[in-house]
Order: sequence, then C-alpha cells, then structure tokens
Amino acid sequence: MDTLNPQQRHKNMSCIRSKDTSPEKAIRKALHKEGFRYRICDKRYPGKPDIILPHYYAVIFINGCFWHAHEGCRYFVFPKSNQSFWQKKFQRNKARDAENLKYYQEQCWRVCIVWECAIRGKNKNQKIERTKDRIIQWLDEEWEPYLEIKGN
Ligand SMILES: [Zn+2]
Repeated sequence: MDTLNPQQRHKNMSCIRSKDTSPEKAIRKALHKEGFRYRICDKRYPGKPDIILPHYYAVIFINGCFWHAHEGCRYFVFPKSNQSFWQKKFQRNKARDAENLKYYQEQCWRVCIVWECAIRGKNKNQKIERTKDRIIQWLDEEWEPYLEIKGN
C-alpha cells in the first residue's frame, strides 16, 4: 500500500468509497474475516469485479438485480415509464455482463456472480454467511469455472 503515491491513493480511496455499497461490503467483510485477501477496484480487470482473488484466478461480481435485469427475480420490476429507454439500458448491461464473463473464461479465470437477492431481505446476516460459505467451498474445493448464487 505504501508504494502508492498520494494521487494514486486518492484515486483508490474514491473508488473504494463509490463502490462501497452494502452488498459488496458485506461479502468482502465476510471473506476477509475468513482470511481471504483480495483486490478491489483494480483497473487491469475488465468489468470492475467487486472482489478479485488473484491466487485463485477468480473474480466475483455482486450484481444488483435491477441494473443487471435479473429475470424472474422479485427485485427486478420493469419500469412502467420510458420503457424503450430501459429496454436498451438493460440490454446493454446484460451484453456487457456476457462480454465480461467471456473475457474471464477465455483467460481461464473463474467467475462467480452473486445476485443481490441472495444477500438481502429477511435474515440477511444468515444469507450473507451462507453465501460466503458457498463462495469459499467453490474457491477451495471445486473446479467449476462458473458459479451463480441467487436468492429466490
Ligand atoms: Zn435477483
């Protein structure tokens, strides 16, 4: 950390701040407690993964169900107004998600998508614990290149 100059440090801090909405923070904290060390906000990684685990060749994206248009999810309700605007927006977001997935898979990195619905609502803390355990199992014991964790 001390190798960063003040300007870089500032950039890093503002990135951390802007990305520190609670779902990401909760999963990061839970993994950190278990001894996992990761990178965040590293521009070398396309798609801005929320958690980067270089030793595991793994990236984790925490997806908001609305912005990433989680189909069939109760947190994704298609807006009633400006429908063509939203249609385009969601299509773009989904296309970008698919591109990112393809990129990491081509590099033989593993990708985990945690949908926000897996870690919000009732019994939130239990859900976060369960999600964290699932991620660790995937990192440590499984070879699957792709893992998706969702709520309902
Ligand atoms: Zn969802």
